[in-house]
Amino acid sequence: MSARLHPKTATQVDALREHPFGSVIFHGPRGIGKAGAARELATRLNCLGDEPAKCTNCRQIEAGNFPDLITVGLLDKASLSIEQVRGLTAALALRPFTAGSVRVVIIDPADQLTPEAQNALLKLLEEPPPRTLVILVAQHLGALLVTVRSRCQAIFFVRADTDPSSAQTADSQEVDAQLSLAADAAGVEAQTLFDRLLLAARLASTGADLERFGEALHRRVIARLEANELDASSANTWLSALERFRLQLRAKVTARVALERLMLELS
Ligand SMILES: [Zn+2]
Repeated sequence: MSARLHPKTATQVDALREHPFGSVIFHGPRGIGKAGAARELATRLNCLGDEPAKCTNCRQIEAGNFPDLITVGLLDKASLSIEQVRGLTAALALRPFTAGSVRVVIIDPADQLTPEAQNALLKLLEEPPPRTLVILVAQHLGALLVTVRSRCQAIFFVRADTDPSSAQTADSQEVDAQLSLAADAAGVEAQTLFDRLLLAARLASTGADLERFGEALHRRVIARLEANELDASSANTWLSALERFRLQLRAKVTARVALERLMLELS
């Protein structure tokens, strides 16, 4: 993977080559190389030869005419429309053009997808067609609906010039992790049980800090109670469920089991 990327980020992106099917979000500051990494990944996944950039697929990708690399970007408007998503879905209903290729869809900037367009994407993100990888490229994870985020693996792009041991890197990742958890917590109440279970699966598989997730959800319940958005009885149900969740984590109950129980109790 490109030397421009921070080693931590490069490792995460490289890991996608082992299992390049599903939906991911590349997010992080502008100009850090998210789109470049997405294109490079598409190239690596489809290269036919040992010598980089010499094979038919590499040359087609370089020239922008590889049929199984589909990019959705801004046209003449400031946002990505639901029509563009519908066009994409129609294109993906066809088989990949090249036998054996990994079809890669790059949606960039995904933060400019309208809410309607994001909703129209949910089914695709949840279950992409065979041999297809969907990459959403965004500066701000928070610009994407919780329902979109719960269906994707998110990779945060750390600046290449930051020392991995520096406190600043740790801080920015910490802040990012906290923001993600807070957003997940805020989203739980608006989600269907199905979405909550998807979120549970993702949190369990990404090794998120679940005690902190519980704490974020706890703060959220108190805030909603104080704002009269939640009645005392519902708040009690949630707080009891969160207390049981906390005890289960302390008792080393498997993350996924504890999360799924919590989501079921909140429904
Ligand atoms: Zn090649």
